[in-house]
Amino acid sequence: MNIEPSHLLFLAGTAIYLTVRSVFLRRTSAQVKEVNKSSAGDRLLVILVGTAQVGLPLMLVLTPWLNAANYTLPPACMWLGLPVMVGALWLFWRAHADLGNSWSVSLELNNNHQLVTRGVYRVVRHPMYASFFALGIGQALLLNNGVTGWAALLAVSVLYWVRVPHEERMMIEAFGPEYLSYMQRTGGVLPRIATITCA
Ligand code: SAH
Repeated sequence: MNIEPSHLLFLAGTAIYLTVRSVFLRRTSAQVKEVNKSSAGDRLLVILVGTAQVGLPLMLVLTPWLNAANYTLPPACMWLGLPVMVGALWLFWRAHADLGNSWSVSLELNNNHQLVTRGVYRVVRHPMYASFFALGIGQALLLNNGVTGWAALLAVSVLYWVRVPHEERMMIEAFGPEYLSYMQRTGGVLPRIATITCA
């Protein structure tokens, strides 16, 4: 066992993350899917992100296998990591709550899919992926290991750059001009300055 206070803090955040996911998985399980654009590559990316966010941290804490990559982090990292994790988990929860029945793990659309442009989706198109990036920063600040600390940021970057073009194409095919105009007034993971000042 390789237990440090910052590891416990990170694992507590992971427990909240998994709880939010399972609650919304259960809530959306009855949705009938009409469009499915999820490929084997996309499913592999989801597994890659899950391994980086949950599997590797558990391996760091429960086994000595990654010890060779351990280093010392300044104590300030833990105090910075805490608000980053809290903010990231809030955004993760809000994104699920705002998407409601429109949420799915893979690239799918329901038979009565609703385009969501309210709540956190009013300012950014990808708040859930933004929360993944923020969770990845929290992971780098809390886990003092060269593999586990950085794995999630790397995996989420790959997911973002590979998946988002497919996801946005699917949304444009389904919602046409409505989604194109939504794209014009919002940012991807960071708000557009104009959206904030004109709000
Ligand atoms: N990219 C978004 C959603 C991730 S979940 C985010 O980061 O917050 C992926 C699924 O959400 C997609 O398969 C699509 O069905 C759905 N989706 C994405 N954006 C949406 C929107 N604005 N309104 C409704 N559904 C959306």
